[in-house]
Amino acid sequence: MQIIRDIATLHRAVAALKQGGKSVALVPTMGALHAGHLSLVRMGRRVADHVVVSIFVNPTQFGPNEDYAAYPRDEARDAALLVEEGVALLWAPDVATMYPGGHATHIEVAELGADYCGAARPGHFDGVATVVAKLFNQVRPDVAIFGEKDWQQLAIIRRMARDLDFALDILGAPIARDGDGLALSSRNAYLSPEQRAAAAAFPDALKAAVAAIAGGADVAKALADAEAAIVAGGFDSVDYVALADADSLERLTIFRAPARLLAAARMGKTRLIDNYAVD
Ligand code: AMP
Repeated sequence: MQIIRDIATLHRAVAALKQGGKSVALVPTMGALHAGHLSLVRMGRRVADHVVVSIFVNPTQFGPNEDYAAYPRDEARDAALLVEEGVALLWAPDVATMYPGGHATHIEVAELGADYCGAARPGHFDGVATVVAKLFNQVRPDVAIFGEKDWQQLAIIRRMARDLDFALDILGAPIARDGDGLALSSRNAYLSPEQRAAAAAFPDALKAAVAAIAGGADVAKALADAEAAIVAGGFDSVDYVALADADSLERLTIFRAPARLLAAARMGKTRLIDNYAVD
């Protein structure tokens, strides 16, 4: 696996991968890789001839009081995992390569980024959309793969790719979960063993709400019950539990498919997100 840190070398290496009409899948990540990331890589191997993974902890998507400095980083471990998965190329630029002095352009996907995590983390999705657009232009993949774990992010990237005519396919990969149902996340590493054990209350509460809504319960009551169960389960606060149209992300007060239950909650310093389909 080639590990590349400058754009000129990246362009040459991707051109070599594409020789003979071969296709390239891009899996953007911030590193601290877990089985969820690796499931995206495997999807990439199924749908394309070569997989390029990027690792870049993007400073512009973190707020001033968020965990940019503390975010787990272990490139050697990540690279070893990617070699095992047959990844062709690891694109690992530093901040100065991604944002040279004078960088002034950003992308805002207006409506889709305003609510949910966008409300709790102002500027977050502008940082995500901008860096993902840059990654698309840098790597020029045929397909890019994102996890459904970050449902709002996936919706925003799909809309950005459509609005800006990026010539690539965007694929969503199912959420990889631990045995107790907690969605895998690099941020789970922040949890103490006691917190980690309690954190299963989050997916449990969401699953109960999905069952209630699908069974015809009042949406507002199901959402309020889920919030109460999350706090009773040991979380300090709930940023949101909402029922949304799966594509437009419009809040729904009355269930209609396709819908998604979206949620974010905080335990100590750790902010976790999750979502489920409601059919
Ligand atoms: P991150 O490194 O957290 O920015 O995530 C990189 C990509 O992996 C994003 O597309 C995430 O949605 C995806 N991802 C993270 N955790 C999971 C998971 N548990 N299951 C599926 N995809 C995931």
